Amino acid sequence: MEKYEKLEKVGEGTYGKVYKAHDKATGQLVALKKTRLEMDEEGIPPTALREVSILQLLSQSIYIVRLLCVEHVEKNGKPILYLVFEFLDTDLKKFIDSYRKGPSARPLPPNVIKSFMYQLCKGVAHCHKHSVLHRDLKPQNLLVDKEKGILKIADLGLGRSFTLPMKSYTHEIVTLWYRAPEVLLGATHYSTGVDMWSVGCIFAEMVRRQALFPGDSELQQLLHIFRLLGTPSEKEWPGVTTLKDWHVYPQWTPQNLARAVPALNEDGVDLLSRMLQFDPAERISAKDAMAHPYFDSLDKSQF
Ligand code: AMP
Repeated sequence: MEKYEKLEKVGEGTYGKVYKAHDKATGQLVALKKTRLEMDEEGIPPTALREVSILQLLSQSIYIVRLLCVEHVEKNGKPILYLVFEFLDTDLKKFIDSYRKGPSARPLPPNVIKSFMYQLCKGVAHCHKHSVLHRDLKPQNLLVDKEKGILKIADLGLGRSFTLPMKSYTHEIVTLWYRAPEVLLGATHYSTGVDMWSVGCIFAEMVRRQALFPGDSELQQLLHIFRLLGTPSEKEWPGVTTLKDWHVYPQWTPQNLARAVPALNEDGVDLLSRMLQFDPAERISAKDAMAHPYFDSLDKSQF
């Protein structure tokens, strides 16, 4: 690790600290992520190595944060993996915050929202094409190059050998705000729809500059969703009442989604509603989302 000069801590992810660093040989800025793996006697589990290589493969897309290399070091006889990523100046959470706070608070420009949404769908479509689910998409995991107007997905593919804990290593609660209802209801088999739900929540949050469903427990999270979209039944979502954590909930009727995102045009509201379908099988795919009329006015040649 002498190759890198650590500059400052830039974030705390679910799995550990992220440092900004300087590659002494090339002068390039990088983000160093120390991964906390469950080590066994044999060292780094092969599943983790497999996932790192998937990550390396996926990060060929410009909408995925580039994994530059992996450094393997020993500390007190224990193996540690450092993932070395390209460095980006901000994340979508900080980007949205910059429009929310202070004297210059204003809505995000609609063309920026559209461009970021398109890039997000493109990145997610790329992952899904390779059968990789992200499972924890949130504004904090989306890195932004402000200068170039590029959005990239981070914290990807660490889904299986790096199981998602309830609390991060700093005991921070892992956010539930972007979690799909089937995950909250304890579905054991879930698919690409979990990511598309998160994409919908992120879309709404860019428009509102505040979270759509800010729950602070799994139950509260579900109630936030049901209050806006109506309490689901077997009619909208066949099989819902057989999910492990299903209970009897207060009965709400669906509200008008457009009222939750007043600054969004009709096409945008239509796309959002397709991302927030209760039945995961009915939820729009990332690829189909890219072809939605909401994006018709976008110059797609730049992507
Ligand atoms: P993560 O573990 O990916 O959620 O990262 C936690 C935080 O560290 C993010 O919200 C970013 O602010 C920051 N971060 C992660 N990766 C990078 C990167 N490649 N470049 C710059 N900042 C990063």
